[in-house]
Amino acid sequence: MNETAALVVWGIGLAVWIAIRLPRRRKAQRTKVVVDGKSTGEKIALALCIVGLAIVPLVHSFTSLFEPANYPFSPFLGWIGALSMLAFLILFYQSHKLLARNWSVTLELREGHELVVDGLYRYMRHPMYTSFWLWGLAQLFLIPNWIAGPAGLASVAWLFFSRINKEEAMMRGQFGQAYDDYCDRTARLIPGIY
Ligand code: SAH
Repeated sequence: MNETAALVVWGIGLAVWIAIRLPRRRKAQRTKVVVDGKSTGEKIALALCIVGLAIVPLVHSFTSLFEPANYPFSPFLGWIGALSMLAFLILFYQSHKLLARNWSVTLELREGHELVVDGLYRYMRHPMYTSFWLWGLAQLFLIPNWIAGPAGLASVAWLFFSRINKEEAMMRGQFGQAYDDYCDRTARLIPGIY
């Protein structure tokens, strides 16, 4: 693996992410939202994710703006990055499939919202967020630049920590004891760890 191949892997990851997400976004918009928990902070965090995970790396790919922050590429880390990217896409696709019409890009509950507790959701409450952390890690390992590399991870961290308690409170408000029981038997992101 060389630096160009690593950048191509990153680009393919972004393209596959778009291909998975766009049709689901269109589909989700057909189900009515009954609880809207989004705030200005949420909108800022989501915009930061687009900047950190897509715009900054794209600017780095096509311009020399961040060149002074380059460091030597490690093929070993490049392969770890490629594996993280693959794991990200598998988890992302699966969690979208499992959430189906219950998915929202932000804090919302939809008409007839069901609590998903099967498949990946049997082991962790937030597999889609686990996948985003893996995406951020993939970017860090695939792009040897002190700005474009960690930008994704920083924006994912911002979104995750600003949202997670509010999301769990919203779910608890809707599903009550069933959600508490579900929390008791699952980890947030990594089974057995967190
Ligand atoms: N946190 C989850 C889902 C992310 S999408 C994950 O990482 O996999 C965010 C939306 O999904 C939330 O607004 C909520 O409406 C919905 N959601 C979160 N967990 C859910 C669950 N277990 N079952 C059904 N919907 C859920």
